[in-house]
Amino acid sequence: MVRWSVEQFFGRVKNKFRFLKTEMPNIYTEKISRFLRFATAILNYQDHGIRYDPVKMDELVTRTLERMKVEDSLLSRIEISGLSNPNNTWTVINHTVITDFPKLTMQDLEILTLGKYQTSLAPEYTKSHLNETYEVYSNPQFQGLLKVRLGSRFRAAVYHYLYIEYWPNRNGAEGLSSWHCQCQVGARLVGCCGHIASVFWFLGLGRYSPLPMSRISYENVKNAPRKLNSS
Ligand SMILES: [Zn+2]
Repeated sequence: MVRWSVEQFFGRVKNKFRFLKTEMPNIYTEKISRFLRFATAILNYQDHGIRYDPVKMDELVTRTLERMKVEDSLLSRIEISGLSNPNNTWTVINHTVITDFPKLTMQDLEILTLGKYQTSLAPEYTKSHLNETYEVYSNPQFQGLLKVRLGSRFRAAVYHYLYIEYWPNRNGAEGLSSWHCQCQVGARLVGCCGHIASVFWFLGLGRYSPLPMSRISYENVKNAPRKLNSS
């Protein structure tokens, strides 16, 4: 939640002031904070300050407080019940056979990820990995549970495995009950890491877009029709 606000602030400044977007010579080091204050004051005067929808923010805060009380049962099942045990038979499947995954709107995604930051990154991240390192697995023993393998955003040949548990055919954010990713920041139920957000986005929204995946962006799937793209 906080990270999106910080990114939004700097993104806005960089968009308007090219000088603040590029590398600066050392001679400006002591003046950078003054430049930033001037730039922000001009933006606030000409445009407006960064505004938040108080109703939306209240919803996110309420959701955060609720999720903090939820026990991470999926984590204990992975650790204790051996969900990740190689003896469990997980089979790679095509996303088109997953027809009971909750359908999501952009608002649902923002509720699940607690803001726009992860959601805005999800389309590009999905596109860059979909044909190479993106593998979805199912296991007949665990209905409503998917395992996904994703490549790291930062390191080649590094993979993260994640688990997503959902209520079959229950659309919306409430259809997703638990999730866990084995990356450094993936063990949480308050918000989620970028890998989980990518899968939420792709399975719940992105694949229903009538546009080919190469043309899909954060902006143009906001109102994507809910029709399964079989390509
Ligand atoms: Zn992760």
